[in-house]
Parts: sequence; C-alpha cells; structure tokens
Amino acid sequence: MRYSIIADAYEKIEATTKRLEMTELLADLLKRTPKEIIDKVVYLSQGKIYPDYVGIELGVAEKLAIRAIAASSGRREGEVEELYRRVGDLGKATEALLERRSQSTLFREALTVEDVYDAFDKISRSTGPGSVDSKIRLLTKLLNNASPKEGKYIVRTALGKLRLGIADMTILDALSVAFAGTKELREEIERAYNLSSDLGYVAKRVAEEGLEGIKRFGIMLGRPIRPMLAERLSSPSEILEKLGGRGSAEYKYDGLRVQAHISGDSILLFSRRLENITGQFPDVVSHLREAVESNGAVLEGECVGVDPNTGEMLPFQMISQRRGRKYMVEEMAEEIPVIFFAFDALYAGRDLTREPYPVRRRELEGIVRETDFVKIAERKIVEDPDELEAYFEHAISLGCEGLVVKSLQDNSIYQAGARGWLWIKYKRSYKAEAIDTFDLVPVGAFMGRGKRAGTYGALLMAAYNDEEDVFETICKLGSGFTDEDLKSLPERMWPYIINHKHPRVKSQIEPDIWLVPSLVMEIAADEISLSPLHTCSKDSVRKGSGFALRFPRFTGNWRADKSPEDATTSREVAEMYRNQLKRISE
Ligand code: ATP
Repeated sequence: MRYSIIADAYEKIEATTKRLEMTELLADLLKRTPKEIIDKVVYLSQGKIYPDYVGIELGVAEKLAIRAIAASSGRREGEVEELYRRVGDLGKATEALLERRSQSTLFREALTVEDVYDAFDKISRSTGPGSVDSKIRLLTKLLNNASPKEGKYIVRTALGKLRLGIADMTILDALSVAFAGTKELREEIERAYNLSSDLGYVAKRVAEEGLEGIKRFGIMLGRPIRPMLAERLSSPSEILEKLGGRGSAEYKYDGLRVQAHISGDSILLFSRRLENITGQFPDVVSHLREAVESNGAVLEGECVGVDPNTGEMLPFQMISQRRGRKYMVEEMAEEIPVIFFAFDALYAGRDLTREPYPVRRRELEGIVRETDFVKIAERKIVEDPDELEAYFEHAISLGCEGLVVKSLQDNSIYQAGARGWLWIKYKRSYKAEAIDTFDLVPVGAFMGRGKRAGTYGALLMAAYNDEEDVFETICKLGSGFTDEDLKSLPERMWPYIINHKHPRVKSQIEPDIWLVPSLVMEIAADEISLSPLHTCSKDSVRKGSGFALRFPRFTGNWRADKSPEDATTSREVAEMYRNQLKRISE
C-alpha cells in the first residue's frame, strides 16, 4: 500500500475538527488497507509504531531531523533552520523545501507504508554509538523518496508530533464503521481494546476474523488490561443505597496501582497507565513469585511503601520516588520496601472479567498465599452506614486514603476501561469543608508579567469530557507554584506547544500559547462556581454557563501516573457541584 494514500487521508483528517467526519475519513482509509498491515496503519495514524505499553517511542531530535531534511533537499542546515523558525513547523518546512528540490523526482521510488513503518521501527530501536548517523541515514532515505506532502507527515511522525487528534475512541468507531458498515460492532470492539490495550492488534483481529473473532476475544497474558475505575460519593448511606444496601468495603491503599501478569516464572508489572514497570520493582516480582501459586494469573493490587523499621505504611509520595528509576533500583528497594496489596483477580487459568466480584475475590484468595510483602486487601462486608463510617475511620488511622466499597451483586463484573458505580470510593477529602482535589490538564498558557516575566503567568486548565472525548476548560491556574516550578514550566510544556487550538480542546478563552492535552496536575480549590467563561459541562445547570473553580492552586503533585483521559471528568465535576449544593443546604 502506498504511503501517499495515508498522507492524503491525513491531510483531509487534519482539515476537519468534526469527530464524525474524522471517523468517516478514517473508516475509509481502513477499508482500503490490506488486512496484513492494518495494525501498522492504525499505529501510524496516532503517530506511533507500537501500542503504548510496549514503551518504544519515536522521538527523533529536531537537530537530527534537520540534518536529514538538509541532505535530502540539497540545502544547508542553516537554511532549514531559518525556514523552520519562520513557519514554526518542521513538517511544513520540509514540504516547502522538497517542493523546491532540484533533483528530478522521476527517480523516486514510490514509498509504501511498509517502507515507512520499517524505517521508523529501525530508527526507534537504534541506540548506542553510531546510532545518530544511522537514524539520519534512514530518515534521509525516506525523504529522498517522499513527495513533499509525504515528507511533511514523515517528519512530523519522526519527531513524535503528528498530532492529528485521532483519539482511541475515534479509531474504535472507525473500525466498526469500516467492518460492519455502522457503529453496531463498537461495543464488542471496545471490549477487545479494553482487554488488550492494543488498537493495532484489535484492528487486525476484526479485519481477519470479523465479528466472530472479536466476540471470542479474551485476556492474553502479557497484554495489559485497561483498569476498572471507581465513582465517588461522600456519604456512607448514599454509598450503600447505590450498591443495593450491602457492599464489600475494602481499604483504599495509598500507593501505586499495579497489574501483575504471572505466567510460570515470568512476571510482568504494568502501571495504572499501562507502562511496563517490571524493571523498577524487582522486589515486587520476586515477592509475587513466592506468593502466587499459579501458572497463569493476572492480579491487580496497590503497591504501598512501608517504613522498614516500623512496618507502617508510608504516603504515596514515598513510593512515587521509586517510579521511573533506571539506576539505584536495588538500593531504593531496600530503602523503601513495598507491600503488594492484591485487590482483584482478572485471570486465573481462565478469564474472570465477566465473573462477579465475589467469585473473583474467592479466586484471589485461592491463589495468593500471603507473605510479609504480598497481602490480600483488607475488607469487611457492611450493610449499615455507621459501621461503614467506623471502618472508614479505622482505615484512615492506618494510613489508607479511605475505602473503595464494591458491589456484591450478580452484575458486579470487572468493567475494564470504565469508571462505574460497581466500585465507589470514599475519601477523607470528600468529607472536609474544602472540596476534593481535581486532576486537570493544561491546554494553554499565558505569558507572565512583572515578577513572572520570562515564564508563564498562568495555565489554562481543563477537565475531560469522556462522553465527547474533549477537554473542557475549568480555570486559569496561577497559584500554588514554587519558584522552581515556575521556572521550569516553559521547559516542561515545550514538547506540547502547538500553534493552534488542539482539535480536542473546547475553549472560549484564547491563551497566548496552546498546548496538546498531555500532562495531568493535581489542583485544590475552594469551591465550584458557575461561569460564562468556561466550557466544562456548559449549559448543564444554567444556559450559557460552565463550571469554574474558585481559588484554584497547584498542590505540587504532577500526576505522572495518569494520562489526560484519566483526568477528572466534566461529569465528576457536575456531581461534585451537586454535592456541594447539598452540603450548603444541610
Ligand atoms: P485516585 O486519584 O483517587 O487514586 P484513580 O482515578 O487513580 O483515583 P479510581 O478508580 O477512581 O482511580 O480509585 C480507585 C483507585 O484506588 C485505584 O485506581 C487504585 O489505584 C486505588 N486502590 C487502592 N486500594 C484499592 C482497592 N482495595 N480496590 C480498588 N482500588 C484500590
């Protein structure tokens, strides 16, 4: 398949901001794609070459790309840089330069999708001495054979800046439209995605096996499952009512969520964002090996740091020091030992995700032999609000964040990838006078003045609307930053700057700088109010108004464990607003 087909489709997709149109265009492209390479086309359309959990990213440095562009367009590097500075996009600069290329394009070999994918694959894997030269060589060769338009997209992809705004959900819709003609297959396809976290693989199964294949789709050891998430409520009686009068109250441990895939001796650990973190927690791997009696299991648990002297649980900040480490891993494991508190079994020789919670809990208790470092989450079955409250206080006194109260009903399956009412969290912050913290996404920035000249004065923050798959603004954030935070903001945001509003951002405010929704920051606030300026759940309470935060401030916590789609949702904000009204009227 020629790469030009993809480049043409990208151009059309880029020109639209309407999700429906985007879906149609993508469905069209997928229909034209041969089955054997549909996975590659899916990854490429999101600017990737593998599913995220594999951890192989394309991210060629600009300097290096400039050298390749100069070589293939016959220009000096200075000229490429100069044009880049003027147009602000290296892809566009490449397109312009290739148009003016002197050598005859008659000698070009038509690029195929496979050529482009294979070159990217090699580029992303090449490391060590000589790798810079070989990356430049590979990229130059691609550009030599590329049309100007192809060159534009090749360069953007190589830099990790394709950014067509194609969300996972749009691809799921497009797959259904491409292979069933309508969105009727969407639910089944989404389930397959939730169980494998790999859109390319799902696309291939749909293309090759159709509806039947997708219905047979089950858990595969080694492919992370998208996590089930909890809703929240602020009173024990409401919680019990929502769960049909009775629930299993589990401690909400304050640590890192880990999904362990255990297959004989081989164990893989995935984070809440599905990154492979096995190498960062060798101690957890060996503790699980000792404690789990199974040849095939997927367990979920919370890893909590403990004080090696007292055995007491440490707050989240401590274990987060162990995340992302490549060096001193063993030393840190000794300094901050970790207990794995298992709270769910998703697979134990068979797929358990469609089994109700009591069955999964039984299986979990059957395969885990508790040790000092692997335990099963404490729980109590409760029917009475006072009992629930007392258990909550007890959990807090031990250093937990609160409780996750789980449904015991027949429909209490594991809802991969969804936030639902089968799990309800109950945290201390929901009870305090101040309302809870929010996990929000910066989508824009304002240049600072006076003392903040040279950095940002404020960020434009957004909540996630999970029904429309867009980010809606909720506040301008200028407080809570340390001097160091402030100084580092431009550098931190640099990779995400774009020169227009991102297609998945809804905003009436025009910041100085637009950002791709990427990072997640924890924000505290005094109150949720209504404001005509913001788009969060706009019109839901009063026509023309959205939700806004009063006195928002950064808590200092960058939620690197969350992706932007894990941010606080607009629906949750609406729910919190209703609770706030209730509190005021009580
Ligand atoms: P938060 O920011 O409150 O941790 P979240 O968005 O990461 O929330 P939720 O599903 O809303 O995730 O809340 C449940 C989280 O609590 C899980 O992601 C998990 O990390 C943690 N947790 C701790 N103990 C348990 C438990 N016993 N059962 C389920 N989740 C637990």
